[in-house]
Amino acid sequence: MILTELLIVKDLKKYFEFKKSLFSRTQYVRAVDGVSFSVEKGTTLGVVGESGSGKTTLGLTILRLIEPTSGKIIFNGSDVTRLNNKELKHFRKSTGIVFQDPYSSLNPRMRVKEILERPLKIHSNDDEEARLEKIIKTLEEVGLSAEHLMRYPHELSGGQQQRVAIARAIILRPLLVVLDEPTSSLDVSVQAQILNLLLDLQNKHELTYIFITHDLLTAKHVSDFIMVMYLGKVVEYSTTHEVFRNPRHPYTVSLFSSIPIPDPKLKSRKRIEVVGEPPSPLNPPEGCRYHPRCPYATEVCKLKEPELLELSDKHFVACHRVNELDFSEFLNDMSSFLSD
Ligand code: SF4
Repeated sequence: MILTELLIVKDLKKYFEFKKSLFSRTQYVRAVDGVSFSVEKGTTLGVVGESGSGKTTLGLTILRLIEPTSGKIIFNGSDVTRLNNKELKHFRKSTGIVFQDPYSSLNPRMRVKEILERPLKIHSNDDEEARLEKIIKTLEEVGLSAEHLMRYPHELSGGQQQRVAIARAIILRPLLVVLDEPTSSLDVSVQAQILNLLLDLQNKHELTYIFITHDLLTAKHVSDFIMVMYLGKVVEYSTTHEVFRNPRHPYTVSLFSSIPIPDPKLKSRKRIEVVGEPPSPLNPPEGCRYHPRCPYATEVCKLKEPELLELSDKHFVACHRVNELDFSEFLNDMSSFLSD
């Protein structure tokens, strides 16, 4: 059997303990609550959702930067949750992460050279000369040069800082990189450059990405598959093409509805309005977690949690009413835009 899936996640949960006071009972913030999916080698999975959906916690848990509460994370055939220290070190070498805010993710007291040298010192036996060669080569790959070696992060622009963060994530030639909103804190003019850089690096080094974002259009630009999360759960998962051609979960459609479209003819386009803020993951609603905000909720939605079921080839949706709801009128309005 040829293994094409680099990462398989099964029923992953991450709960955080929470106590209001010393004597109150322990409650749990269910940040990630029974998430399952897989990522094929060399592809990008876009993880989309608003703040509090659990997407960042999911990324950190997959990399074991925080410990999972339960579930399996199979990476390249091994269960990451059961690795000993030596195996965990090897896993760290095979994975990387880029955070949203490049400045706070880089040590302000280290020069670029030291920042990039650190992973090489930990994970390779290279001598100083070989390390320097790798550092300069990686800097050039991310659009910087030897000229930036001795600079501190504060001496770089936001885009340059993020290029250093990307260089740090790929310098050990990892298999998987988690990109946590890597462009959302950058100027609009720089965002496209960074996205294109990430795509170039993926092609060059056959990288597999998990791309976390709140922005569906950014996810569309970079992702082969899209997974939509709401309050710690997956509500829709499919190929990017299918999610954009035929979104089936009311929450996914509401995310489309919130995309600003610069076309005056669509001023009066139909929208699906979402009511209120997402509930607290400390006390998620019974039944479908989306029901207090869903315009299509019925009694069953309040009582029973919908399962994530496969509607068609690789298109999964968690909604009791998925076969009744018809968004075609709404989607027709946006079809030319969404198919771009
Ligand atoms: Fe809305 Fe009910 Fe579907 Fe949940 S299960 S998304 S509340 S229609």
